[in-house]
Amino acid sequence: MQSHYELVIVGGGMAAGRLMHQLDELGYNKSVAVVSNEAYTGYNRVLLPGFLAGHYQASDLTANDSWSTRPNFTVLPNCQVQQINLDKRTARLDANKVIHFTELVLATGSTVPRLNVPGSDLNHVFELRSLGDAEQLKQAAASANTAVVIGGGLLGLEAADALNDLGLKVQIVHRGPQLMNRQLDAAAGDQLALKLAQEGITLSLNAQVNRILGVERVTAVELNDGTRHTADLVLFATGSSPNVALADQAGLNCAHGITTDQNLRTSAPGVYALGECANVDGSNFALVEATYAQADALAATLFGRTQSVPPITLGTRLKVSSTALFAAGETRPSRDDKLNDVIVEDDRDGIYRRLFFSDRKLIGAVLLGNTDAAREITQKIGTQIADRDRDRLAFGIS
Ligand SMILES: Cc1cc2nc3c(=O)[nH]c(=O)nc-3n(C[C@H](O)[C@H](O)[C@H](O)COP(=O)(O)OP(=O)(O)OC[C@H]3O[C@@H](n4cnc5c(N)ncnc54)[C@H](O)[C@@H]3O)c2cc1C
Repeated sequence: MQSHYELVIVGGGMAAGRLMHQLDELGYNKSVAVVSNEAYTGYNRVLLPGFLAGHYQASDLTANDSWSTRPNFTVLPNCQVQQINLDKRTARLDANKVIHFTELVLATGSTVPRLNVPGSDLNHVFELRSLGDAEQLKQAAASANTAVVIGGGLLGLEAADALNDLGLKVQIVHRGPQLMNRQLDAAAGDQLALKLAQEGITLSLNAQVNRILGVERVTAVELNDGTRHTADLVLFATGSSPNVALADQAGLNCAHGITTDQNLRTSAPGVYALGECANVDGSNFALVEATYAQADALAATLFGRTQSVPPITLGTRLKVSSTALFAAGETRPSRDDKLNDVIVEDDRDGIYRRLFFSDRKLIGAVLLGNTDAAREITQKIGTQIADRDRDRLAFGIS
């Protein structure tokens, strides 16, 4: 390991992987070190539920990128950055090793915040954030019959579906009044709940966890109303909390993420942040598309062609076996007099489509059952839609 790198990247997740890929494409010839506290760098985290369900092998997620063989690019795996000193331009690693940098990128991602309830540290209580987590969860699932998933958002539903595929009896406990309440309108949430129930996944909505029961190992989850759900394992899918401790301790401005401008510049010169740890111009995203757009802009900037992150419309796709689901843009708009929507439902085929308009402009959409129009809708969000196109999109005609 050399002692000085022109560029040090902290974190070897999807943001770092895409950044290295882009730097490679641009022919970046300065020395770069990626310090990753995981064994693999840049692997496809999105496929973790599929890996858990047995649809993918670890090697499907970790396919090597060509940048990894570049002589000026170094990866330091299984290595944690413990502290950063911005005056001395140093990063202290495990075992008190120190590396120097000229420029620094923070790509530390986020953590699943566990509920602060008794029993949340018992054995067989998990989260699903890394390949290591997925491997442990899979091993525990092999000898389990029942699971409780806490959280009915995208990641909770995908994990619940994977555990159901593995033959476990799965109960989802969600504190909101409907599933995926950040992305779906109430009717789509209800339809989704119905489809999961048909798969055998049961739900508790408006439910608060009181405590997790067990001696050493978890046995049940108790809700505030006294209901108990038997659990051989518990999974926290309670959102994501940006990893800012390192940046905060180094004196960088942080608020719901490491604060950056549209060029991914933090409050210190020559220090950048991107991905789930960053709050870019007031927004923190937990989606790959946003992370990749940031990585592409940052690669150009580091290469000397300053570029800001372009505005993009983000869509969410749920990957579960019971149904196809896509949501993008504003799907829970506040009422105003220019707002209208078009709903198409076909119970027989399990289709639900709802498009939201404001002043004839498409502002959001939910597609359940058939998501063929997802790409076109994403492109059209923010634009005026002619009546003919509105009906065509609503009826799913391409
Ligand atoms: C199970 C799951 C399913 C998902 N599905 C979807 C999906 O369907 N669609 C979608 O758009 N997004 C999805 N996401 C979100 C997507 O994976 C993230 O938005 C993306 O990975 C963000 O990239 P990142 O590099 O910022 O963070 P991460 O990929 O989390 O990488 C951060 C890395 O930094 C490491 N690290 C942190 N601190 C240090 C330190 N001090 N020293 C060294 N290393 C450190 C972490 O261990 C981690 O390896 C999913 C995420 C998960 C967990």
